[in-house]
Amino acid sequence: MQLTHEHEEIRRNLRRFIDDEINPHVDAWEDAEIFPAHEVFGQLGRMGYLGLTKPAAYGGSELDWSYAMVMAETLGYIRCGAVPMAIGVQTDMATPALARFGSDELKREFLVPSISGEYVACLGVSEAGAGSDVASIKTTARADGGDYVINGGKLWTTNGAQADWICLLANTGEAPAHRNKTLICLPMQTRGITVAKKIRKIGMMASDTAQIYFDDVRVPQRYRIGEEGMGFTYQMLQFQEERLWAASNLLQGLQNCIDDTVAYTRERKLFGSTVLAQQWVHYTLAELQTELEALRALTHRAVELYVAGEDVSMLASMAKLKSGRLARLIPDSCMQFWGGMGYTWDNPVSRMYRDGRLTSIGGGADEVMLSIIAKHMGTLHR
Ligand SMILES: Cc1cc2nc3c(=O)[nH]c(=O)nc-3n(C[C@H](O)[C@H](O)[C@H](O)COP(=O)(O)OP(=O)(O)OC[C@H]3O[C@@H](n4cnc5c(N)ncnc54)[C@H](O)[C@@H]3O)c2cc1C
Repeated sequence: MQLTHEHEEIRRNLRRFIDDEINPHVDAWEDAEIFPAHEVFGQLGRMGYLGLTKPAAYGGSELDWSYAMVMAETLGYIRCGAVPMAIGVQTDMATPALARFGSDELKREFLVPSISGEYVACLGVSEAGAGSDVASIKTTARADGGDYVINGGKLWTTNGAQADWICLLANTGEAPAHRNKTLICLPMQTRGITVAKKIRKIGMMASDTAQIYFDDVRVPQRYRIGEEGMGFTYQMLQFQEERLWAASNLLQGLQNCIDDTVAYTRERKLFGSTVLAQQWVHYTLAELQTELEALRALTHRAVELYVAGEDVSMLASMAKLKSGRLARLIPDSCMQFWGGMGYTWDNPVSRMYRDGRLTSIGGGADEVMLSIIAKHMGTLHR
């Protein structure tokens, strides 16, 4: 993929911001199990990073998705997975459908402050009873006069405890499951919404992951994104960017893992030599670097074709699948070479081991990716 001077400038400036303003605080945010999303998003918004691919009319830069890829890759320099994920939710998971299908009024109300960083957004698809099987969600939005009345709940909502609005997927009719759903911009301060709890997790510690309930929550129907009944389709399109984002973001995080391990094992002495000098160690790291380069090539190819306007659902699913696989293989293999130091909580590789494990589960589990790939290969058995 041909990267321009503008791509490199985005990478350089964002990297400087990460080194100066984010990484010095990451350990404290991980310990606190939350980070100040409004403060960080405000800074990123002022620098123009929350709207790279969004329309200029709403404060965005209207660049193509290769710039989002470079931003996602660069966020991999952040020394945890939680903060990049929160930013990715804002830029490439909760807002693409709004930007593409929302009315002008809706975009002025929700997209403009999400691009400026004044608002924190979250995405409400998964529920206690439905994650992989999105079509079977139970939350309803019943039309009542000019309003929707929403009942149900969402689980695993990243940014959910801090968000100003949720991009909510709800059932709005009795049509078959793929045609009865609607995406709605729902302000989180609306009466009837309860953020029940912040969920404790094994990784992504600085990310607030919430369980949310809706009890007769009333919202104007003009807060609907696009057409009623098109929510499932819009969400599947929105997932495309989420999956490309996840693969792009991991490229640098996994590179850090290998680089940190090379640096540590080069210094660590044993048997009159170093850990890195053991053939098994440098061969294994060479193998992992090769796997990572293959993921980079796949991800860049998927993004290149996406920018060219092609349907990349198979390639994006492959990139997401492979990134999930490598997010398990690379930190696990690297951790081994750190010995006991690798088994400590604050070790960068052990953090990646915990944080990266989510990739095979969230945003469509590996098995869901396999079924999409099989469907495109014409081999999916129904
Ligand atoms: C930290 C975290 C953050 C998250 N953030 C968000 C968010 O912001 N917004 C949101 O909407 N959701 C979010 N999620 C939810 C996430 O997308 C779901 O957890 C994921 O889609 C899996 O759904 P589930 O947990 O209900 O697992 P289930 O759907 O119950 O699946 C369980 C397992 O079944 C297997 N499986 C699934 N499908 C198949 C198949 N076809 N064939 C064979 N096996 C299969 C997989 O191994 C899967 O892991 C988050 C989750 C976590 C843990």
